[in-house]
Amino acid sequence: MSKILSKKDAVFLCVSALFSALLCFFVYSSLFSPDAAKKTAVISRSGKIVHEMKLSEDGTFLIEDLGFEVTVRDGCAFVSRSPCKGRYCVNSGRISRPGAAVICVPCEITVTVRGEESAIDGVAG
Ligand SMILES: [Zn+2]
Repeated sequence: MSKILSKKDAVFLCVSALFSALLCFFVYSSLFSPDAAKKTAVISRSGKIVHEMKLSEDGTFLIEDLGFEVTVRDGCAFVSRSPCKGRYCVNSGRISRPGAAVICVPCEITVTVRGEESAIDGVAG
């Protein structure tokens, strides 16, 4: 009875410390992992959504009558082909952050990234 920490107590402390460490790890990884699975590239034409692509899945989407192509690769979306003159949309590069967009004015097409990360971004700065 004179011992401050019995062997049982020590084991219990170790286990609970391990548990809280694991919990921290899970919470942390769920908050900060690059959750491409939750992000989608939304392709709109003249203000109407024509297609949505998961950023977690590589692929291409072609608007045939325009010859306008959007590609998703490595969690990023970009315009890979466009018939417009300036091709600013093609040169805009890759987007992956929620709220980011590539706009092609001549083709009236927008590619916007939607996701659930924006709130966390706001907290983390
Ligand atoms: Zn363009």
